[in-house]
Amino acid sequence: MSSKVICRHCQQDWLAQYEVKSTGEEFFMCPECESIWLGRQDTSEETEDYLSEFLESRGLSWGDLERRES
Ligand SMILES: [Zn+2]
Repeated sequence: MSSKVICRHCQQDWLAQYEVKSTGEEFFMCPECESIWLGRQDTSEETEDYLSEFLESRGLSWGDLERRES
């Protein structure tokens, strides 16, 4: 993924790609509002998922994530 995608939720920041270190699961997140787009979700569309819920549902913390540089 080479082109930057503006956050569709808050439109205040670019999405960044993150990975869950233990599972390799990848997702996009807006650093500004912490909205996330999982797997096959279209990043050009609004999302209703937030990082806090994602981490809680999987028993993860920030330390389990790794930001991927593109
Ligand atoms: Zn945002």
